[in-house]
Amino acid sequence: MTILQNISLKPYNTFGIDVTAKQFATFTSVEELKELISNSKFKTQNSKLILGGGSNILFTKDFDGIILKNELKGIELVHQDEEYFYIKAAAGENWHSFVLHCLNHNYAGIENLSLIPGTVGASPMQNIGAYGIEIKDIFYQLEALHITTQTVQTFNIEDCGFGYRTSVFKTKLKNEFIILNVTYKLRKKAVLNTSYGAIEKELEAMHIAEPNIQSVADAVIRIRSSKLPDPARIGNAGSFFKNPVISKFRRHAIAERFKDLPSFVIDDMHYKIAAGWLIEKCGFKGFRKGDAGCHKDQALVLVNYGHAKGSEIFDLSETIISAVKKEFGIELEREVNIY
Ligand code: FAD
Ligand code: NAP
Repeated sequence: MTILQNISLKPYNTFGIDVTAKQFATFTSVEELKELISNSKFKTQNSKLILGGGSNILFTKDFDGIILKNELKGIELVHQDEEYFYIKAAAGENWHSFVLHCLNHNYAGIENLSLIPGTVGASPMQNIGAYGIEIKDIFYQLEALHITTQTVQTFNIEDCGFGYRTSVFKTKLKNEFIILNVTYKLRKKAVLNTSYGAIEKELEAMHIAEPNIQSVADAVIRIRSSKLPDPARIGNAGSFFKNPVISKFRRHAIAERFKDLPSFVIDDMHYKIAAGWLIEKCGFKGFRKGDAGCHKDQALVLVNYGHAKGSEIFDLSETIISAVKKEFGIELEREVNIY
């Protein structure tokens, strides 16, 4: 067990922000993790952060505390019944590699979540979602280590408080648990969901008349690769803001002014509005100040063109929030975790 001092975090966050961590250690086993959190160097720090792939984080300053990077590995089929395979993956597994593993074994239901960066352990944190599927749709249970008591607790779906890009781990139990592994429930017989976003159009372009989980995953990968900036080339953390949910009355008022308003029914009284569209209408698509910017093809994604400080990206997000509030009366909420 080695605790390193003053480590650059640039390789550890997809925004590519160049800040340092006062202390930094990796763990590859639960025993090693328990040893780390028992150490006085861990216990005496006020700020503690469990890091996965750093793809949903913005560092706005040097991290004055300890960061533990999760390197727990392993994937196993733990159970099956008539309908489902139950697959347990260690929290440090790369998410997309895990998706590919499932596709190779014909485990269905995860295909729409292809090419999302990050780790398995972070997937329940914000109930990751894309193309109409969220973690909650394929979740069975997870095990997490309570930092103070060092006990391992099992969370079933009803314990996780999953909501739109949120869970108890991001809210009520924030900073209390380290997720060790997640078990997903994947179908033996696929039930494809191709109606969301551009999947159907992409399948057509691929000349696929009878899609399967592999071709749906391929379509999602093609769409994502064509419109989202690759963090290896332009720093970003995906969607910076959540899509706001507003009342049907407010939606009606906005739709009177803007006939092209993209909105989706949530229930009788509420609609989800595409945050990217709101930001674009305020003129920020392609906006750049120094090295901080708003992506040219997807306004919801804030980017680091090279040497932006985290505080500059954060300031840009503040400017965007104010502009959207002024124009539409809607308060955007950040999806990315700010440190
Ligand atoms: P990190 O950024 O390392 O951590 C995020 C938060 O989770 C932190 O608060 C961290 O402390 C906590 N955490 C991480 N691991 C653990 C653990 N084991 N135990 C306890 N806490 C933990 N998200 C979507 O939902 N849908 C998308 O389609 C999507 N597309 C993206 C596209 C791009 C190009 C990028 C850059 C990001 C995208 N994201 C998307 C956001 C991001 O990929 C996900 O939120 C991902 O799950 C973050 O994983 P991570 O391991 O990088 O988490
Ligand atoms: P898109 O397909 O251009 O759609 C724009 C927005 O409209 C999306 O945000 C999506 O909401 C919503 N939408 C589209 N079709 C819908 C439907 N049939 N029903 C309800 N809502 C619908 O979006 P995109 O930017 O290319 O992203 C595609 C998918 O990947 C989305 O699900 C998005 O959430 C996900 N994604 C997430 C991140 C992230 O960091 N969180 C980054 C990139 C992409 P939802 O976002 O609620 O799905």
